[in-house]
Amino acid sequence: MKVDVLVIGGGSAGLAAAVTAARTGARTLLVERNGLLGGMGTAALVHTFCGLYLLDGDRAEIANPGISSEIAERMERATGLGPVKMGRVWVLPQHPVEFASLSDRLIREAGVDLLFHSELVSLEPGWRAEVVCRGARRVIEADSVIDASGDAVGAEFLMGAAEPTEAVRLQRPAYVCGVQGVSGELNSLELSGRIVEGMRAGALTKAALGMHFRASGRAGEIFGTLDLSGEEQGAYDPTDPACLSAIEVAGREVASQVVAYLRDHQRGWGGAYIAHWPIRAGVRESRRWRGRATLTGEEVLAGATHEDDVAWATWPLELRETNRGPKLRYLKDARAAGIPAGALQADGFERLFVAGRCLSCDHEAQASIRVMGTCFATGEAAGRMAVEGVPGGS
Ligand SMILES: Cc1cc2nc3c(=O)[nH]c(=O)nc-3n(C[C@H](O)[C@H](O)[C@H](O)COP(=O)(O)OP(=O)(O)OC[C@H]3O[C@@H](n4cnc5c(N)ncnc54)[C@H](O)[C@@H]3O)c2cc1C
Repeated sequence: MKVDVLVIGGGSAGLAAAVTAARTGARTLLVERNGLLGGMGTAALVHTFCGLYLLDGDRAEIANPGISSEIAERMERATGLGPVKMGRVWVLPQHPVEFASLSDRLIREAGVDLLFHSELVSLEPGWRAEVVCRGARRVIEADSVIDASGDAVGAEFLMGAAEPTEAVRLQRPAYVCGVQGVSGELNSLELSGRIVEGMRAGALTKAALGMHFRASGRAGEIFGTLDLSGEEQGAYDPTDPACLSAIEVAGREVASQVVAYLRDHQRGWGGAYIAHWPIRAGVRESRRWRGRATLTGEEVLAGATHEDDVAWATWPLELRETNRGPKLRYLKDARAAGIPAGALQADGFERLFVAGRCLSCDHEAQASIRVMGTCFATGEAAGRMAVEGVPGGS
């Protein structure tokens, strides 16, 4: 199979990259190992779009007009919910079910060729890639490649192209599940207090303290999010299958205990049950590409701009180096910071682009640029560069 642009991974970034490249006239193939698009926003049930809007302001202003605006509008129509201000940031509640469906439509309308259930297993300069579906290999030749895999899998195949973060600083994972059968208003503070009581009474383990709940916007439906340490069986390594397996099992075990406890002890929870598990636990940070430029947290905080900026980052540095909640560091005197084209270009390789949470940046900057609103924007920029070239470059 021969294409102009191969996009690896159909999360927020890959979706935007593939749609943009196809709309620009390129024959575009998107390969995704799951059977739905949206990445963490569907498979891990992450249910809020952050980074869509400029920081501060009396109204929600889209930071990166383009695909972000289209996705936001479609999501608002699907859920009936608009942007919400939380302190200095605006966010858009999103529903994973709607995200998967609107992604299918965007891909179909743009004319992207799509291979679900296809995992990239090799990548060689040229570009020649291999994907595996149910044991069968398929070779793909492409003029340009965009790695939007979240885990920089392409960098792993092209040895030494990834930038490691020390395990102890990696943003911690979380496990999100869907809960139904709860009646009445959701009082998050009261629920947290009840979980503490359960732990003190010896009915819940300490890990249960990481659980919090948010209404989905649909009658009777709640999302439960359990922040995990990632160290359920040793040092946290989001690329190690044994570590990932422990996270999945711990997520289900602790979430089940918490919901069972609340069923017996919390008003309105007598009929509560876990209605669905995610396809996978949520991983915030794993591998990142080493690019021609590396965006730093200091640049984001300073609202720095660069000559070759292709997208705006607006989300604060949301550091989650422990499972005891986020530490937020806001941009100073700026509503956005520039993301340079160089951070979306793999260092040392021609026509190899990268987008989303694995683009080239340091650990601190990743704590801002990983949010889905920003992933749409970097995906769109990578899709455009793959077809039209790099601004001001060859
Ligand atoms: C618990 C949690 C809470 C979060 N909260 C928020 C929030 O409230 N708001 C927000 O905006 N962001 C939030 N984030 C961050 C955000 O969800 C992610 O950083 C973002 O979705 C990343 O998008 P991406 O496209 O870069 O990668 P991903 O969403 O990880 O998508 C990568 C895709 O590539 C596919 N893939 C990977 N390897 C291969 C391969 N070899 N072959 C084929 N396909 C492959 C994967 O299956 C996946 O679909 C949260 C993240 C987590 C984990």
